[in-house]
Amino acid sequence: MSGKLEVRDLNVVFDGFRAVTDLSLTVEPGELRFLIGPNGAGKTTLIDVVTGRTRPASGSVRFNGQELVGRREHQIVRLGIGRTFQTSVVFEQLTVLENLDLAASFRRRMVGLLRRRRGVSDEVSRALETTGLADLAFAPAGVLSHGQRQWLEIGMLIVQQPSLLLLDEPVAGMSRSERDRTGELLREVAKDHTVMVIEHDMEFLRRFASTVTVLHEGTLLCEGTVAQVQADPRVQQVYLGRSREEPDEPAASPAVAQGSPIVQEASS
Ligand code: ADP
Ligand code: MG
Repeated sequence: MSGKLEVRDLNVVFDGFRAVTDLSLTVEPGELRFLIGPNGAGKTTLIDVVTGRTRPASGSVRFNGQELVGRREHQIVRLGIGRTFQTSVVFEQLTVLENLDLAASFRRRMVGLLRRRRGVSDEVSRALETTGLADLAFAPAGVLSHGQRQWLEIGMLIVQQPSLLLLDEPVAGMSRSERDRTGELLREVAKDHTVMVIEHDMEFLRRFASTVTVLHEGTLLCEGTVAQVQADPRVQQVYLGRSREEPDEPAASPAVAQGSPIVQEASS
């Protein structure tokens, strides 16, 4: 399986502000990696750099050994990297099936396989199954619940057959049961893709994460299992400090009371 991501000594500066500083991390092929950190830690910026949206001041990002820095967004898509955004990109008037088919035809055009086919392609029917949206194939995307819409977006990514998926807060705003369903979906997807997911919800991490990378103010604070990062005093400090600064933050106080300081529901 391909899909290895190697970030080395990455620096990102916006108008003199250091959003990412000397960041290095490696994600192995087939890994389901979680990326956490308070708002402003640089998580989305990292995804923006990997996908060619933001140019770093210095450093290297290699994907399967190939340098990504300096490449344009569409070239990076073609190398097999797909992402979701914090805001939705589905076409509400089109059905679930049409949205998936459109995403898949984008890939078919891209790889020059202009197969004229009737009916539903294999990758689209597989995506309907994987995302659990088969029963809603003919429903307009506009009627989907928030959770179903996120699953559709993940489906629209996987039909493009990337080897690395970057998901920016996919469970934000979801109910507990939708979160669990999403975790199962990500596990399924990680069987044949590398997945890096930005998420804060500690319960979600405990259930589904193996390796967690913690960012803080643009630097790597620590990396390890959920238990390891939770036990790390620096991680507790970062999240406790935050909850002291923002006493009205929902979920922060009860989380601290339960002894799990890195529970955090909402984010940017
Ligand atoms: P996170 O996703 O971890 O919440 P971001 O990566 O979005 O954090 O942002 C990291 C820091 O960089 C924040 O302080 C943010 O304000 C700043 N930042 C992000 N994008 C830009 C930009 N385009 N211009 C200026 N500052 C930015
Ligand atoms: Mg963000």
